Amino acid sequence: MNPRRPRTVRPVPNPVPDTMSIELKDPPKAGALEASVKTEAADVIDTSKMNKEQAAALELAEAARTVTDYRSFAGDLFMGRFDLAHVYPFPEQSAADAEAGRPFLTELERILQTVDGDAIDATGEIPDELISRLAKLGAFGIKIPKQYGGLGLSQTNYARAAMLLGCVDGSLTALVSAHQSIGVPQPLKLFGTEEQKRKFLPRVAKGEISAFALTENGVGSDPAKMTTRAEPAPDGKHFILNGEKLWCTNGTRAGVIVVMARTPDKVVNGKARSQITAFIVEMDTPGVEVVTRCHFMGLKALYNGVIRFTNVKVPAENIVGGEGRGLKVALTTLNTGRITIPAGCTGFMKLCLSMAREWSGGRVQWGQAVGRHAALADKIARIAAHAYVCESMVLLTCALVDRDNADIRLEAAMCKMWGSEAAWRAVDETMQIRGGRGYETAASLKARGEKPVPVERMMRDCRINLIFEGSSEIMRLFLAREALDPHLKVAGAVLDSRQPMGRRAAAALKAGGFYVPWYLGLAIPSGGIPADFTPELKGALRYVEKTSRRLARTLFHAMARNGPALEKKQLTLGRIVDIGTELFAISATVLRADGMLKRGATEYGREELLHLVNFAVADARARIAQQFAGLGRNNDSQGYRLAVEILEGRHAGLERGIIKPGGG
Ligand SMILES: Cc1cc2nc3c(=O)[nH]c(=O)nc-3n(C[C@H](O)[C@H](O)[C@H](O)COP(=O)(O)OP(=O)(O)OC[C@H]3O[C@@H](n4cnc5c(N)ncnc54)[C@H](O)[C@@H]3O)c2cc1C
Repeated sequence: MNPRRPRTVRPVPNPVPDTMSIELKDPPKAGALEASVKTEAADVIDTSKMNKEQAAALELAEAARTVTDYRSFAGDLFMGRFDLAHVYPFPEQSAADAEAGRPFLTELERILQTVDGDAIDATGEIPDELISRLAKLGAFGIKIPKQYGGLGLSQTNYARAAMLLGCVDGSLTALVSAHQSIGVPQPLKLFGTEEQKRKFLPRVAKGEISAFALTENGVGSDPAKMTTRAEPAPDGKHFILNGEKLWCTNGTRAGVIVVMARTPDKVVNGKARSQITAFIVEMDTPGVEVVTRCHFMGLKALYNGVIRFTNVKVPAENIVGGEGRGLKVALTTLNTGRITIPAGCTGFMKLCLSMAREWSGGRVQWGQAVGRHAALADKIARIAAHAYVCESMVLLTCALVDRDNADIRLEAAMCKMWGSEAAWRAVDETMQIRGGRGYETAASLKARGEKPVPVERMMRDCRINLIFEGSSEIMRLFLAREALDPHLKVAGAVLDSRQPMGRRAAAALKAGGFYVPWYLGLAIPSGGIPADFTPELKGALRYVEKTSRRLARTLFHAMARNGPALEKKQLTLGRIVDIGTELFAISATVLRADGMLKRGATEYGREELLHLVNFAVADARARIAQQFAGLGRNNDSQGYRLAVEILEGRHAGLERGIIKPGGG
């Protein structure tokens, strides 16, 4: 690559360049033309106008990104394709799978009913006895195959467990989830050798706690800045690990953890390429030290700490996925791992709904129950709708994992981003609905003889979901990168100035061959609505189909208008991503409702379900309209300029007359 010359639409930096190297069963393929002109995305990145750090981050991220031919339903929406083949009829959990999970989930529910979340919050500790009971039940090996001592349950059953946990206690959810969504079980399941699986999986399935250590002081969203190093030992059989990891959840209790470390660079195409490698580290190895336990606004019983490694001898056989593939391991793990957060958020929002309903139905002010005042009624409706939408998105995504072993990078990221933001809004509204009692601690409410409703604790516990396992901003960047991917594959070679003119002209012809019919085709409906679809919900699907074509045109115009500068237009890309996410949310919601209505789901009356879903759809449509409007008319540049002035200290006057904490 010639680093000096810009060549093509610059892909959005993808700090979580998730990959999917697990086997894909019969994936839907990219269109033939698109596939025939595809280029490795990493080859079309223009890093020439970036500073060294930006370029390093992008190159590392892109190198960890695996290109698959899988066409996801959610990804297709950005291309104006509405293909229900893999999502209709809604892939309900099979009776056999539900039956397989029933004994575990029933017992889990029984145990969780005894958990005192307020006591956990107050003491900052999860009782050992509770952890032992959960371990005995198999809650630390839910998805670990039976042959390695786990329960061997599906992603859907795991998500159902997370839904239960999510409405009980945040710290407990994080303990169980960090252990198996990102800790040792998931990376080993995806990338481990048979020996590694036999050695470690039975231990962690039984309840030996595990963790995942990527973050460092200088490494948040950007792994290129990693300083933890592992050098090959002279014996050729070990690596010597040195460095310090920050905020390692479960780290203070773990027996074994996955650590990401830099290993010696490799020369690829004549250029040194950074290598990040994943190691399984036994916490009792000499040189491993828990420096401190960290404490946060919420999740008071999180066993989270700073872990230091000083000349730690790690067997080379403990490398997961091969040397230099650590980022791939980490990010692939997070692909499915991050579904646990929105699953937990679903349970959490249902609890918010229950609290909001109970309070606002009984509390009378100004002559009627506060829930019947329109301002509060709107909040109640929204909490309910969002709980249902989130559950639908999660269940659909889990089903795609269970049934098709599908590449659900986009769907999972959408679930995580949408679900964590909806849960935060839900707890905020629940606090507002409960008024002063929302703000009061459960202990104080109890001391006054009132029901100890822990909205205050829930709010503290909930906020982190927008930050860890891919912050909302990073999720939007990731989704934008993936939304642009088909265009990079098609148009990448055209502007590649390294290529001889003849080859570029041929590529242009091919790209034209794709773009002309594709763009013209966006005027025509891209997919039919199933004839037997619930009549009352057909309109919503028609709307998704039509709006996905509008979205595809909008993205294409944004690319054409901005070229490489599109990368810097994070707010434009964010709106596009939000529209795509809302379209996925509507689809999941109405497809699930259609399935429920057809099988005569007993938990819901027909009329009530239609009211709920139609409200959810109207609500999403209003947000989509707002995002489209924002794409046309906004003050993004003005705001950016102002922020830069502020960063440059030109508005220091505004900060005069304040007292800063610690006098700083
Ligand atoms: C309670 C808790 C538990 C955690 N558990 C673990 C764990 O088990 N293992 C582990 O490895 N890590 C863990 N983390 C770390 C967590 O994943 C990071 O906090 C997260 O990745 C964000 O990194 P950062 O906090 O350094 O923020 P930064 O990366 O410094 O980002 C700061 C802000 O800038 C935004 N931002 C960054 N880059 C961009 C960009 N390019 N464009 C737009 N916005 C951007 C971010 O979204 C964020 O809002 C935990 C953190 C906490 C607080």
